[in-house]
Order: sequence, then structure tokens, then C-alpha cells
Amino acid sequence: MNNQIPFVDLHAQYQNIKDEIDFVISDVIQKSLFVRGSYVDKFEQMFAEAMERKHCVSCANGTDSLYIAMVALGVKPGDEVLAPAHSWISTTETITQAGGKVVFCDTDTDTFTIDPKSIEEKITSNTVGIIPVHLYGQPADMDAIMAIAKKHNLWVLEDCAQAHLARYKGQLVGTFGDAASFSFYPGKNLGAMGDAGAVVTNDQALAEKMAMFARHGGLNKGDHQIEGINSRLDGIQAAILSVKLPHLLKWTELRQAKAQRYSELLAGIASIRTPQVAEAREHVWHLYVIQHEQRDALKEFLAKQGIATVINYPVALPFLPAYRRYGHQVEEFPNAHFTQSRILSLPIYPEMCDAQIQEVAVTIGQFVHQQ
Ligand SMILES: *Cc1c(COP(=O)(O)O)cnc(C)c1O
Repeated sequence: MNNQIPFVDLHAQYQNIKDEIDFVISDVIQKSLFVRGSYVDKFEQMFAEAMERKHCVSCANGTDSLYIAMVALGVKPGDEVLAPAHSWISTTETITQAGGKVVFCDTDTDTFTIDPKSIEEKITSNTVGIIPVHLYGQPADMDAIMAIAKKHNLWVLEDCAQAHLARYKGQLVGTFGDAASFSFYPGKNLGAMGDAGAVVTNDQALAEKMAMFARHGGLNKGDHQIEGINSRLDGIQAAILSVKLPHLLKWTELRQAKAQRYSELLAGIASIRTPQVAEAREHVWHLYVIQHEQRDALKEFLAKQGIATVINYPVALPFLPAYRRYGHQVEEFPNAHFTQSRILSLPIYPEMCDAQIQEVAVTIGQFVHQQ
């Protein structure tokens, strides 16, 4: 066990851009730009431009970005919001926080993203919006989702927390819906050195409402139009993100190369299902998720060989204690239930070297052959 392979290696990324990062952190401190200030303004501009949207409202984390967007979209008690059964809980806990009711939809077993057929089945007269999640870095089926939204007059809030720069039919995710939320949690494809998040939109009125709500209900000091919350990107995180954003495309391409290598190396192992990328979708590989029937035994075997893996996520949202009040049954979400016991996320990060990928693949092969 001399060669430990971590799940992610944030230190390796820091080493490559250490001078730039150290400079801006000390500059924020020298100039006391802790809250708002030039680095936050600059990052909001840079990020809006990179995501091809007119407005970026930064906030404290990705979870808040969903909550802020839904409050600004006008979610009120009784409103139903559709979301995939398979995601991180931020996607749905914020529906409840905004005052709405969570309505889960089943996912597609190939892409793990929300199944448009399930969306159609769940629409009622109380439905107000849809939150597609571009899970693991693969875009959801945006043509189908936007067509349903248009037909039923629903808003669409894209959860892009795992999918910075992913594309659907050549178009950036986050540019399809009314607004798109992003997380800059350290391990995300674009990560801060602490918590951070943002919402982007082309709708100016919506952007103003979101900025207002995130800043105590007022854009100018002392002028509180509504009651809001305090959710802001701090100057140090904004400075770090401004340094990292210009590297994002290169890091994304490196992730894509690692994923392709994994898929080549694992292709010969029949019992391993490698991740499938649907037609015309550009995956950015926040996570590389394989499926295997003996997932838990495989995870343990890899751990013994020093290879870290994660299950994203071990229990689909409808089956969590947090949603017991809805009394959901396994049969309602057969795909999400089927995949939750089979998925395993392998280590992937831009700085990972080929020998490490080979070692992971060889070790998986050893596990399968000893079965
Ligand atoms: C990470 C994540 C979030 C929330 O982001 P935080 O910055 O951790 O609050 C929301 N949705 C999904 C799908 C995520 O992976």
C-alpha cells in the first residue's frame, strides 16, 4: 500500500498556481477587501462572461444560490417544484426552505439525470418549476425539459453545481433555463478555498431580486425593500476564484482525458458498467461513476489497496429520513433505487497521472477476476 490514490488532490492544484493564489490572498488582506469590494465585482463579471450570461449574483455557497433563486422566482406555499430523485440534498432542501413542496422525478439509468417522461407524469396544476441537475458533470436532456417547461409555463432553474462548462448540443449548461446555480465548494470543478456560490441569469429583474434578497433585502445600505438574508461571497474566495477561472477550460479538458482513459481501460471488464454519455452532451466529469453489482465489496477491496472511492449518493433523496413525511415507496423511483446500490465514484482530478488511473483500473480487474 505504498501508492495511496486520493479521491481528489486539492494540494496538487494549489502547487501549480501557488504564486498567483498567495499574491491575491495577501492583496485582499492588505487592502481589507473582505466583504464585497473589487475582487467580488471582478469575479461576478468574469463568471457571467464565462457562462455567457448577462448577470452573476454571487453568494455564500451553492445551496444558498438555489434558495436565493427560488425565492426570487416567487415560490410560495403550495407550489410544487420538480427535481430528480438522485442528487445532493441541496437541490431539494432549498425547495422546502423557499416554501415549496418537493416533487421527485425518477432518473435515467444511463445518464443519472432527470427523466423527462417522469417530469410529464408529475405535473399538476400546482407545479411552478423544474430543477434539472447536470449530475456528475453530464447535462440533463435540456431539449425535452425546455419543451415541457414551455408547454406548461414552468420556470427552469438549472443546478450546475457539478457541471461548470458542460455543454448540451454545443450550448453551455446554465444558459437554457431562467437561472442557473453554481457551487464553488473546494472539490467542485471550479472550487474556492472555502464555501462560495453564484447564480447566473439573463433576466435583469430576476438578478436584482436575487441580489437584493441575498443582501438583507436592499442593494443600498439602509434601504431595505424586503427582509432578506445575509449570503455573500467573501473577498478572499472571490480573489481565489478569479485566479482559478482562467484555468477552468484546461482543467476540464484534463478531466475529460482522464475519463476517456478510464473508459478505455475498463472497457474489457464485462461486469463493470462504465459511465455512458448521451448523444450531443459534453460531460465535464466532476465525478467518474461506474456501476457494479457487488459495489460495496469492490469499494472495500479498493480501499484495502489504498484507492479512495466515494458513493455519490448512497440513498436516493425520496428514501432519506429527511423525506419520510412523503412516504415514498421504492417502486415509485425504480431507476434511482436500482442505481443507488451500484454506483461508485472513482478518483478523478485534473492533476491525476496516468499511472494512477492504470493502477485503479488494474485493481478493479483484480477484484472482478477473484469473484
Ligand atoms: C455541491 C452541490 C450543491 C450545493 O453546493 P454547496 O456549495 O456545497 O452548498 C448543490 N447541488 C449539487 C448537485 C451539488 O453537487
